[in-house]
Amino acid sequence: MENRLTLSQYKLTSFLACQRRFQLRYLRRLPWPTSPLPERTEQVLQQGQDFHQLLERHFLGLAISQQTIEDGRIQQWWHAFKTHNPVQHLPPNARFLPETGLTVPLGNHLLYGRFDLLLIGEDADSRPFAHVFDWKTGRPIAADALKIRWQTRLYLALLAEGGSAFWPQTVPLAPEQIRLTYWFVQEPDAPVTLGYSAAEHTANWAELQQFARQLDEAVAKDSWPLTDDWSQCRECAYQIYCGRQGVGTAVPELDEAEEPNLPNEQLLTPELP
Ligand code: SF4
Repeated sequence: MENRLTLSQYKLTSFLACQRRFQLRYLRRLPWPTSPLPERTEQVLQQGQDFHQLLERHFLGLAISQQTIEDGRIQQWWHAFKTHNPVQHLPPNARFLPETGLTVPLGNHLLYGRFDLLLIGEDADSRPFAHVFDWKTGRPIAADALKIRWQTRLYLALLAEGGSAFWPQTVPLAPEQIRLTYWFVQEPDAPVTLGYSAAEHTANWAELQQFARQLDEAVAKDSWPLTDDWSQCRECAYQIYCGRQGVGTAVPELDEAEEPNLPNEQLLTPELP
């Protein structure tokens, strides 16, 4: 096995939920999920992905006409977006980078994230800033819960460590100049914007480095324990490998904006409305 891994929020949360699941899914690359998702779940997932593509086209500068959107729900979301556009009041030099990825070294591995929309530019004092926007078609989540999510922590850490690469000359991008806004189709007039600080980044990055060390240890020992939290197994496609079929099943949480086509890595779970 190649020891250098590209770690996304999905791999990270998978490892923390169950090390055996991480091994089966990302190292042994066993197919996931093994059975088709319920039709309703598939539809919700597809609508979420289509909406993300619609906004990507919009921020690439392509004209979007409401009449050309066939799906009624996506039409509603688009209308909500146009009415409550969360991307406003920008400096004139701001650049739009939709569906943009960023990779930085993390210990022996690489940390990877892909932003729905990244805005970069310089503020009135000529200091570089970066602002990530993330579109959510599922249930709204409170700011406190968003703040501690690994998606949030990983996005902010990635930009603090590697965001200066977006400028032609290497310029430092201070953590205080990084923001992340979650915009929910179900609460379009109440986007949640989170800031960052040097102190938060120091603590956040230390924990990510600790995670990388823990992963190295697991790889070195080839030790992948089953989780003690059996509730994790209810959403897991690998029950049969662990003898945990008796725990029952639940539709896993899917995210419409899952990572792009890495080999053998299927979509996990949509966020159901
Ligand atoms: S069934 Fe449970 S123990 Fe087995 S890989 Fe899945 S989450 Fe881990």
